Amino acid sequence: MEKQYDVAIIGAGSGGYIAAIRAGQLGLSVACIESNPYAAPDGQPRPGGTCLNVGCIPSKALLASSHLYEQVVHHTAEHGISTGGRLRIRKIKHAKA
Ligand SMILES: Cc1cc2nc3c(=O)[nH]c(=O)nc-3n(C[C@H](O)[C@H](O)[C@H](O)COP(=O)(O)OP(=O)(O)OC[C@H]3O[C@@H](n4cnc5c(N)ncnc54)[C@H](O)[C@@H]3O)c2cc1C
Repeated sequence: MEKQYDVAIIGAGSGGYIAAIRAGQLGLSVACIESNPYAAPDGQPRPGGTCLNVGCIPSKALLASSHLYEQVVHHTAEHGISTGGRLRIRKIKHAKA
């Protein structure tokens, strides 16, 4: 089936999907085309490009985890809180997904 659009945007990263939303807001029909290298393991599409899937967002989640770890290992004892500070890398990776 053939369909025509006013605008075709290649890539559903932070540049592409914002352009697509804006074009839609301006009343244009939009096709946003994604090659989907960041598909979920089950093959489901994951738009958002580098930023959402492997860049800005996951890296900030890892930074938050490392900040928490640093607090636990170096700063809670002075407040009378003792913990093991054991790292579970699989859970840390899951938290950023
Ligand atoms: C580790 C890391 C941390 C970052 N942290 C920050 C941050 O804190 N703040 C910040 O502002 N920026 C950050 N960035 C940069 C940010 O991720 C990029 O600036 C942003 O993703 C660029 O958006 P984009 O849409 O131009 O490209 P992308 O996000 O790369 O999106 C391009 C999309 O186009 C698709 N595509 C490519 N070729 C084709 C094709 N031929 N057909 C169909 N689809 C195609 C790709 O699959 C992809 O989904 C970070 C980047 C990295 C790697």
